[in-house]
Amino acid sequence: MLDIHHTHQAKICNHSQVVDPLDWHGWSASKLWNVANYHSRQVWEETGEIPDHEELKHELKGHSKYKGLHSQSSQRVLEELAEAFNSWYSSDDDRDNPPGYRKENYYDQQGRRVHEEHPRSTVTWKQNGIKHDTKNNRVRLSKGANHKEYPRAREYILVEYETRPDVEVENLQQVRAVYDQSKERWELHLVCKDEIETPTAPGTETAGIDLGISNFAAVAYSTDEADLYPGNRLKQDGYYFPKEIANCEDSSGERATRLHKKWSERRTHFFHSLAKHIVEQCIEKRVGRINVGDLEGVREDETGESKDWGRHGNLDLHGWAFDRFTDILEYKAKVEGIEVVEVSERDTSKTCCVCGREDESQRVERGLYACEACDAAFNADVNGAENIRLDINDTKSNSESAPSLGGDRSTGWLAQPGVYLYDLSCGFQPQRAVVDCKP
Ligand SMILES: [Zn+2]
Repeated sequence: MLDIHHTHQAKICNHSQVVDPLDWHGWSASKLWNVANYHSRQVWEETGEIPDHEELKHELKGHSKYKGLHSQSSQRVLEELAEAFNSWYSSDDDRDNPPGYRKENYYDQQGRRVHEEHPRSTVTWKQNGIKHDTKNNRVRLSKGANHKEYPRAREYILVEYETRPDVEVENLQQVRAVYDQSKERWELHLVCKDEIETPTAPGTETAGIDLGISNFAAVAYSTDEADLYPGNRLKQDGYYFPKEIANCEDSSGERATRLHKKWSERRTHFFHSLAKHIVEQCIEKRVGRINVGDLEGVREDETGESKDWGRHGNLDLHGWAFDRFTDILEYKAKVEGIEVVEVSERDTSKTCCVCGREDESQRVERGLYACEACDAAFNADVNGAENIRLDINDTKSNSESAPSLGGDRSTGWLAQPGVYLYDLSCGFQPQRAVVDCKP
């Protein structure tokens, strides 16, 4: 059996009855965030290291703000903060800021702070904090001790919800209360677990994916076919949105927030469409396993040539984008019975996938990989993808000779991959057909 998770959005039917306690918990989440953020910055200043979520939990579990939420909900806030620090720290984009404080200060004319307001943060309840009444579409969400009449009492927020009629809420794992600023209402996100029969793989072939900058993904198949997915759309957004956001008067204001959200939605959409398209191709080509280059190699950059994040940092394409994409791909593949395996990317861009040679005479120029021994030039990203498909590092350690395509396979496809371009309205289309896809 295979576990998959679905998130259902639900409207709160008894909103007027639960809005106050939900507000208190949303504010409590912001306050805990701020306390933990302050603590993290202090530790960082003193020791040069940012505490991870385990340290935060250990350090703050006795803090009064920790008791503003159910313990599992407080833990989730600390995890989110640690994740935010982590993604900021591992980013090499200078424009990124460390996670900020969640509050707005109001000052009088003398510059004295007269009022502070906390935004309503999303509050997550995990299993110990949830009682689910499936018959009546109700959930009981445990309050934080600070919001109970008696700290040790069992007190709940009883929320009646309504989902789309075709949705069945079963095996509830997590409830998130999310405040919708535009509607001035809370809503629930219900995360449910489904068990499905473990699917049978479409076949036993292996595909290889090389993730990169100019081509976000290059895919090589055992059928002597290769596809390229240029990252032009991501790059354009990576120029456009930061510029627009920088032009906003208030960098944490409404317009800037909206732009951030739109940008992130567009990225997510790109990742989902790409993963879907690749998985569809894999089903057609009877693939049971997808090799993806491990991202360590991308970050560390062994060649200093095509994958230098420092110089490309302004494109806002970081390791995390690859991590995020790989997660989505893994999920979509798993549901089809296809396994995604991270393999070593070492030397995959330097080695000729046909003869296995790797020496000074090989070179990459304008996206072409040229091998003197083979007297041929291939698309450099396809060459990398094919090496990842063959998992040359694994084969190398198991045998004396370098792996290679073998004598019989033709090599024309290495120079002429299919190219799929991304269009916001119709997803990935073969390069030629893009013009025709508009309605
Ligand atoms: Zn060669």
